[in-house]
Amino acid sequence: MMTRGLGWETSYQSMDDVFPFDKFEGIKIHDWDKWEDPFRLTMDAYWKFQGEKEKKLYAIIDAFQQNNGQFNISDPRYLNTLKLFLTGVSPLEYAAHRGYAMAGRSFRGVGARVACQMQSIDELRHAQTQFHTISHFNKYFNGMHDPQHMHDRVWYLSVPKSYFEDAMSAGPFEFITAISFSFEYVLTNLLFMPFMSGAAYNGDMATVTFGFSAQSDESRHMTLGLEVVKFILEQDPANVPIVQKWVDKWFWRGYRLLALVSMMMDYMLPKRVMSWSEAWEMYFEKNGGALFEDLSRYGIRMPKYHEVAAKEKSRLSHEVWATFNNYGHAANINVWAPRPDEMEWLAEKYPDTFDTLYRPRFEWLAEQERQGKRWFNNTLPMLCQTCQIPMVFTEPDDPTKICYRESTYHGMKHHFCSDGCKDIFDGEPEKYVQAWLPVHQIYQGNCFPEGTDPTAEGFNPLAAVLDYYHIEAGADNGEFNTSPDKANWERWTGQHLPSQPKAA
Ligand code: FE
Ligand code: ZN
Repeated sequence: MMTRGLGWETSYQSMDDVFPFDKFEGIKIHDWDKWEDPFRLTMDAYWKFQGEKEKKLYAIIDAFQQNNGQFNISDPRYLNTLKLFLTGVSPLEYAAHRGYAMAGRSFRGVGARVACQMQSIDELRHAQTQFHTISHFNKYFNGMHDPQHMHDRVWYLSVPKSYFEDAMSAGPFEFITAISFSFEYVLTNLLFMPFMSGAAYNGDMATVTFGFSAQSDESRHMTLGLEVVKFILEQDPANVPIVQKWVDKWFWRGYRLLALVSMMMDYMLPKRVMSWSEAWEMYFEKNGGALFEDLSRYGIRMPKYHEVAAKEKSRLSHEVWATFNNYGHAANINVWAPRPDEMEWLAEKYPDTFDTLYRPRFEWLAEQERQGKRWFNNTLPMLCQTCQIPMVFTEPDDPTKICYRESTYHGMKHHFCSDGCKDIFDGEPEKYVQAWLPVHQIYQGNCFPEGTDPTAEGFNPLAAVLDYYHIEAGADNGEFNTSPDKANWERWTGQHLPSQPKAA
C-alpha cells in the first residue's frame, strides 16, 4: 500500500515516449499494481534506519583505527583479498548505484521505481563505506591507492567491470533479472559469505563491520530479486522464455565472475573458511537446486550449464590461482605459492585433483623461487570474448585439456573459454564484438601512458603498461615473499614470516 498512487499518467506526452525502455525487450506487463513492494519502508523510515547503521559502523571503524587494528590480522597475505575486493567489488557497488537509478527511471510501475530508488541509494552507501573502511589499510599497505583508475584498466579487473557494464547496457528488465535475481538472489552468498567470514577468521573486524552493515540491505535486495522474477513470470506466459534466456546467461556470467572468489577462498585467505567446492555445493547445488525446483511451476528450469559448474568445482580455484601466480608481476596484488601445510589442506579438500594435477605445478614454482628464479609469464594470454578471463579453463570432461571454443562473426574469429560463454556471444554478437579486451588493447598499443614511444630503444612494454595502470612496480605487484608489504609487516610487528620454506 505504501507505493500505491504515488505515480501519475502523463497528459501531454505519451507514456510510451516518457518510458521508452520497458517494452523493447519484449516483456509484457499488464498490471503494474500486482507488483508486491518487497521493502515495505517509507523513505523517512529508510533514512532513519540507515543513519543509525552508519553511526555504528563509523564508531567501530574509528575504534579499529585508534587501536591499530590493521596489525591484528592473521597474516599480511590476507591484505591481498582486501585489494581484490577494493578494486574488483567496491567499484561494482558504485556501478550498481548507477544501474538501479537507470532501471528505476525506466519502469513505469511505481512499486518497481521505489524499490530501485532505495536499492540505488543502498549501493552508493556500500561503495562509500567500503572505500572509507579500506582506506585505512591504504595508509600502511600497497596496491590500494587508486582503485577506480585500476578498475577501469587493469587486465583482470575487466572481468568484474565488463560483467556489470553488460547488465547496465541491457534493458531494465534484463538488468534487474541479472543483478537482483541471478546475482543477489542466486549467487550473492558465494561472494559475501567467503569475504566476510574470511575477514572475521583473519581478524579484520573493520571489514566484518561494513559487511554486516551491507548484509542487512542485502536481505532486502534478495527479496526484490525473487519478487521481480515472480512478477514478470506471472504477468504473461510469453515472458517465460525471455526470462529463462536471461537466467541462463547471467548464471554463467556470474559463475565465471566468482572464479576470482574461488581462488580467494582456497589460496588467498591465510585462515580458510571452507573450500570453494564446499561453498558451491552448499550455496548453489543445495540452496539453488531448491529454488529452481520452486520456480519450475512457472516453467523455469535450472540454468543451462549448471552441470559444467559442478564438474569444474574441484579445479576452478587451482586453475585461476595458478594463472595469477604466473601474472602477479602485472597485477595490483601480491601472489605466492601455497606453503606445505596449505598444500596439505588443499589435498584434503580436493582429494581427486590436487595432488595429481596441481601440487606438482606449485611445487615446481616454489622450487624455482628457492633457487632465486621466481618465475613469471612474459607472454600475454588469449582472453575469452565474453567473460574476458584468460583461456585457462579446461574441458568439462578432461581437466588436462584447455577448453577452447570459437565463433565467426562478420568474417572475424572470436574465442571463448566455454560453451556457456560462446552461447552468450552467439545470442548477441553485436554487443560482444565491442568488448574492450585488455590483452588486445595492449597489443594494439592502447595501454601505454600518453606520449609513449614503443619504437624507442630499450622500450619496456610491461613497465609502460604498469605505468598506465598506476601499478607501482616492485611495491603493488609481484611475489609476496619479496614484497615491501611483507618487509614492512615484519619491521612494524616484530614478527618473522616464513619465506618459501626449504623442501623436506
Ligand atoms: Fe551492494
Ligand atoms: Zn568465458
